Formats: sequence, structure tokens, C-alpha cells
Amino acid sequence: MRDHRKLGRELELFGTDPLIGAGLPYWLPAGAAVRHALEEYVRDLERRAGYQHIYSPVLGKRELYEISGHWSQYRDGMYPPVELGGEQVVLRPSLCPHHALIYRSRGRSYRELPLRLAELGGQYRAELSGVLGGLTRVRAMQLNDAHIFCTPDQVAGEARACLQMISQAYAALGVEPVRYRLSLPGADGKYVGSPRIWEHATAVLTEILADAGLAYEADDGEAAFYGPKIDVQVADSSEREATLSTIQVDFYQPDQFDLHYTGADGARHRPVMVHRSIIGSMERAVAHLIERHGGAFPDWLAPEQLVVLPIADALLPAAASVARQAAELGLRARIAGPELGTLGSRIRSSRLVPYQAVIGDTEAAAGQIAIRLRDGRRLPPLPAAAALTSIAAHVAAHRTELWHAAA
Ligand SMILES: [Zn+2]
Repeated sequence: MRDHRKLGRELELFGTDPLIGAGLPYWLPAGAAVRHALEEYVRDLERRAGYQHIYSPVLGKRELYEISGHWSQYRDGMYPPVELGGEQVVLRPSLCPHHALIYRSRGRSYRELPLRLAELGGQYRAELSGVLGGLTRVRAMQLNDAHIFCTPDQVAGEARACLQMISQAYAALGVEPVRYRLSLPGADGKYVGSPRIWEHATAVLTEILADAGLAYEADDGEAAFYGPKIDVQVADSSEREATLSTIQVDFYQPDQFDLHYTGADGARHRPVMVHRSIIGSMERAVAHLIERHGGAFPDWLAPEQLVVLPIADALLPAAASVARQAAELGLRARIAGPELGTLGSRIRSSRLVPYQAVIGDTEAAAGQIAIRLRDGRRLPPLPAAAALTSIAAHVAAHRTELWHAAA
């Protein structure tokens, strides 16, 4: 594995500028293409799993975070409030309070539960400048977040479904966890809620891990301030561990926000909140993917999926036609013509592009392309339209191995 900061510069994925500030990376076109593919993937995965997507503002009043407990338990990680028209407004440290208010915006019946609200939204952390770097320690991040509001009976099933979504996403991304962690409170007293709800939430998570047959380690001091969590840990290029995915069972915030639903018995009941993230923040996920794949992303994530290589200038119109067809199929394609050097040097400089379509006189005359795969395999010339359609179908299937005509 290589450092994502170095690869990010070399591959022009992201950058920083002192005038924007430390911990505030910007995304260049190639990095934005990877991130966009990832965002589309996760939104689709969630939609199929019964989630509804929402948007909520990145600012909120100080009172909101006093109710949620962030103001008392997490203020060191928050930006200072901004005075605005006699009120104090803060950049949000998490999305949970906004989602709790959206749940509370009207009456809820047990028939609507589980209600799964998802958002790919901004959250902000006042990290000290000394620890900032690349995409892993940032002051602004886009989080793949969701909150499931459900009955106590539904918690285990929902958490199990989250674990399955995490496995499915990791298979598509080519990511492997180093371990599952049951994150429990420590002795430092930064936690809220009664011991009884902590025991209950911990019992639920322990049972889910046992049912799933997953080996895990319990770590004290790693819980969220409002509840314990299952964290899925991955390692970076220096073997440092980080949490990519998380599932948290929360009995505290539903109390704080006085959330309820009307049960089948006509009475008011308290829902449980399951907080979960499948791939964490876009920043951390892409940092991990860069290191995991050394820049050679699975075809569906690659910034460029196809490079078209005409062997002579006279074949540029044929190359343009292939690139156009590819774009129409939704593929990210580029032409690398003879002005960029010999065929060999163009192939080398495109070594991270999963598919390279070589066009010579014979191929152009027959409407064909000769595909080379990134790993060096070469396919016999194929009709261009059929080959591109097959590649597009393979990309849409979100696999880690490359398409191959013989497969
Ligand atoms: Zn949350």
C-alpha cells in the first residue's frame, strides 16, 4: 500500500491550498469522478434497502446541540458559534439532531417504522492543525449517514441488515476489514444516559455480532457519547487503524428530542435510533480506496474507464466515434492520440485505466477495437459497439475484477 497523499498528488485526485486552509482539501476532476461514482453507488444501495434520502442544513442553533448533548460532551470538536441576529449558530458536528427533528416534524405511526432517513451531508470538526493531512484528517467532511427510527423489536433486524450492506459494499469496493470492534464507554465520564440504557444497547449489539458469527474485540473508551457501537476497522498504508463503517444503537437522543410514535395499541411509544454509516465519510473512504488499490481502482470507480488509442492520426475519426459511443453508454473515456507519443508510451502512461481500446487500420475498417486490459491481458478484436456495451454492463454491476470477453 502507498500513502494516499502521495498518490493523490501524482494522480491529480485532490489538493490543498494554504489560502483555503489546512484540513480543507479540494477535489480535482479525477478525484471528483471517483467520489461521484461512490456517492451514486451508496445512494442506490440505500434506495434498494428501503432508505429515503433527505437534505438538511449544515448549520443549526446552539440550543439544538444543547439538547442533543453535543454542546456539553463534544464541544472541543465543534467550531465556535457564530453570532447572528442575537442567536448563536454553529456548524454541525453531526447530522443526528437534524434527522431527529425531521422525524419529529409530524406525528408518526408504528406502520411507518422502521423509518430509514439517509443523507450524504456535510459535518465539521474543529481538528487542530497539527494532526491534519490528506483526506483522512479533515475539518469538513461529507458523511454517508443514516438514522433508522424503529421499534425496540426492530433494532436487531435493522442492525443486521446494516452489517449485510457493509459486507456488500466492501465486496464491490475491494475493501477488507481488519477487525470488528464493539466500542464501549470508558472511565472518563464523557457519556450521557442511564447505565440501564447502555446495558441494553450493548446487549443488542453483542447479540447481533454473535448472530452474524463475526469475531470482534471489545474496546473501552471508543463509544459515542450517547451509546455503544459496532465499528468496522480498516488499516491504512502505515498499518494505522481507522473506522470506516459504524452501527450505533441509541436510546438517549429519542428521549432528549422526545420522539414518539403511535403504536398499534393507540398509545405513544418511544422509538429507538440506529445511527449507521456504510462507508463513512467520502474523504476517508476515497483515501482508503486510493491506498487499497494503489490508484488502480475497480472499473466502476476509475476516474477514466476507457482510453482510446488510435495507432495513427488518420484513425482519429474512428477513435472519436468509439469515445462518443462510450460516453453515450455512461463510460468515462478519453482519446490518447499519436501526438502523445508511441503506442507503447501511451499504453504505459494509461497503465491505471482499466480498458485500453487500440484501433489500427484493420479494426477501423471493420468497426472493431482491440482491447487491452490494465493487467496486460489482450483480447482479440471485437465489434466496438458490442464490446463497449459489455464493459458498460460490467461497470454497472460494481465488481472488483475487470471485464473479460471470455468470462
Ligand atoms: Zn447519528
